[in-house]
Amino acid sequence: MWANMTEAELRQLFPALPPLQHNAGWLPLVVHCLAQMAKAGLNLQQPRVLQIKQKLGSLRIHIDTSGMSEPQRTAIALLAAQALTASRSVCELCGQDAQLRVGASGCRTLCALHAQGTLPHPSTFDAMDTP
Ligand SMILES: [Zn+2]
Repeated sequence: MWANMTEAELRQLFPALPPLQHNAGWLPLVVHCLAQMAKAGLNLQQPRVLQIKQKLGSLRIHIDTSGMSEPQRTAIALLAAQALTASRSVCELCGQDAQLRVGASGCRTLCALHAQGTLPHPSTFDAMDTP
C-alpha cells in the first residue's frame, strides 16, 4: 500500500502528519521511512511525527518517541538517520540521482539538470529554506 503513494494519499491515511517542508523528489524517501517506522512501532495515527523538512540539503524527520521502548527509539533514530543519508543522493526536486550542492540559496541536494537551473524550480523552492 505504500509504494508510489502521493502526499494526498499519505495525508488521507495519516491526518496527524505535519506539513512536508521539502520538495516532491523526496516524497518516496519519506513514505519509505514512515512505513519502516510504522513497522518499528510508530503509531502514525497519533501526532508523533513532529517535523519533516529539508535542512542544509538533507531530509530531517523528527519523531516524538516519548513512551516508546528503548529498542523502538533506537530503531526510529536509525531509520531517520538512514533517510537523511539517502536524501543526500536524491534530487529534492525530481528524485533523480543527485549530490549536495552549495549555492547562493544555501545547501541543496540536486541532480545535474536542476543544479544548472535548466529545469524550472517550483516556486516553493526558496521560500521553504527555513532554519
Ligand atoms: Zn532534479
